Amino acid sequence: MTMHRVGLIGWRGMVGSVLVERMHAEGDFALIEPRLFSTTQAGAKGPDIGLATAPVGNANDLAALAACEILISCQGGDYTEAIHPKLRASGWNGHWIDAASALRMKDSAVIILDPVNQPVIEAALAAGRRDWIGGNCTVSLMLMAFGGLFRANLVEWMTTMTYQAASGAGAKQMRELLQQMGRVSGAAAELLADPASAILDIDRRAAAALRDREMPIEHIGQPLAGSLLPWVDRDLGNGYSREEIKAGAEGNKILGRSGTPVPIDGLCVRIGAMRCHSQAVTIKLTKATPLGEVERILAAAHPWIRIVPNKREATLACLTPAAVTGKLEIAVGRIRHLAMGKDYLTAFTVGDQLLWGAAEPLRRMLRLLIGR
Ligand code: NAP
Repeated sequence: MTMHRVGLIGWRGMVGSVLVERMHAEGDFALIEPRLFSTTQAGAKGPDIGLATAPVGNANDLAALAACEILISCQGGDYTEAIHPKLRASGWNGHWIDAASALRMKDSAVIILDPVNQPVIEAALAAGRRDWIGGNCTVSLMLMAFGGLFRANLVEWMTTMTYQAASGAGAKQMRELLQQMGRVSGAAAELLADPASAILDIDRRAAAALRDREMPIEHIGQPLAGSLLPWVDRDLGNGYSREEIKAGAEGNKILGRSGTPVPIDGLCVRIGAMRCHSQAVTIKLTKATPLGEVERILAAAHPWIRIVPNKREATLACLTPAAVTGKLEIAVGRIRHLAMGKDYLTAFTVGDQLLWGAAEPLRRMLRLLIGR
């Protein structure tokens, strides 16, 4: 087998470190000739990937990058916008795999989520495409959960109401969330230690801490611990947050049906979970479908689906960020018809946004490319 030279840029960041961890765990590094690049750490020693590597290269050195057949970037959108066009203009014809959103909606780019859109990826490969971009984490997790119903043409329209984790905003926000939690808890510490203390006194302390000027909000912008934020990303000025247009736009692009899109829309909300995104969906089915058939279709979509029975104990044990965090499984539960009819379905899903929402589709695209 030919060893492909693969450059990794952005491996120090949150998505990049999860990617390196997963590549290490799956033995990917033994199949490639890895080169590590950084915009700030050139010359330093790379991370432990189980084999000796050359010192970290300069991620702005176009010639060094162009010596790789495949480049994977988790560095961020600004880096992609600065480097990708220059590399392509220089004649580099390698494969560019990217976690950032910068190229996602370009016609030349394919959004990769192979358990859902392997045929779209295969067709693009056959057509000579070279830019492979990971989807928005929430959209990817939604399609990992409900892709089977789309494939079966059972979705007339869908709403997604999200409960998104702090990791989607970044590492600094995850740290700040924990600092906020500590601050709220600390404000009532001695009252909490006294079983006889009054709950309203505890609540007053917590509420005062949330509104206190000392509450750390530098990165999140607001108190998130003990609260929630029903706006994720920029204000588009038309009633939508930037996060909310992605379900329809990216979702249909992933499914390869931007020409005949299924309406997918909803509100995106940040909650105080660390790295699992949850979503409650309403699906208008194209026909009345028994729940047993819905579950069979969902479960058959790919091996990572875990159907959680719509029972209290199973739901609380398996369908929570605490249960799913750090796992590749996509938990789907609370599946039932709505009062509006047997063609209306509701369900709830939880997935780790750093795995299927970010790193996993990238490493699987690499595997697909080096396995050809
Ligand atoms: P990040 O943690 O901020 O890391 C990005 C880069 O920042 C690193 O690779 C590193 O690059 C540099 N950096 C500067 N100071 C650092 C420090 N103290 N520790 C580690 N790295 C540091 O970004 P990210 O959350 O992984 O996101 C990367 C890209 O993926 C973004 O475009 C993002 O939109 C996209 N994405 C993110 C998620 C998510 O959930 N967070 C999901 C899907 C896609 P150098 O080595 O070059 O300095």
